[in-house]
Amino acid sequence: MAGGTLFGGIFYALIAYLPIQRLAETAGLLQNWQAIFAIFVIAMLFGLFPDVDTNSKAQDLFFAIVFPLNIVLLATDKIQASAYLGLIAMLPVVGKHRGWTHKKWAMVIVPLPILLIPYIYNEAILPISTIYYGAAVSGYFSHLLFDGLIFKRFRIKG
Ligand SMILES: [Zn+2]
Repeated sequence: MAGGTLFGGIFYALIAYLPIQRLAETAGLLQNWQAIFAIFVIAMLFGLFPDVDTNSKAQDLFFAIVFPLNIVLLATDKIQASAYLGLIAMLPVVGKHRGWTHKKWAMVIVPLPILLIPYIYNEAILPISTIYYGAAVSGYFSHLLFDGLIFKRFRIKG
């Protein structure tokens, strides 16, 4: 959680002060505290995500979100969406610990719906979604970094 929040902060500093500033301005990001708050929450959640494959806080949180969401989908007759969500929810249990969720490609692929869903349904929110996607990848990256999976010598044990 700390790693995700830290890297959410680093990511925010990057988009706020580097030349990609124009993107942030397009999204109205720098004037909006809710969007800034969302960057930190998204980075933190995706920083937790890789450990959904084991008995952990990340797993508790993941299922605390997925379970009621699936009930809502069923109750509103979105059977197909519910089936897909159910299938996705099985994935962490299928893999072994530090399996696919700890692969470098997962850090890019897992947050992809944040980009794809607006791309398909509402292109107007694409600039802010791009920033949220970046926040998600930053949080995910922090987890792999502190697990020692980016640089072998760099690892926080615990
Ligand atoms: Zn881990």
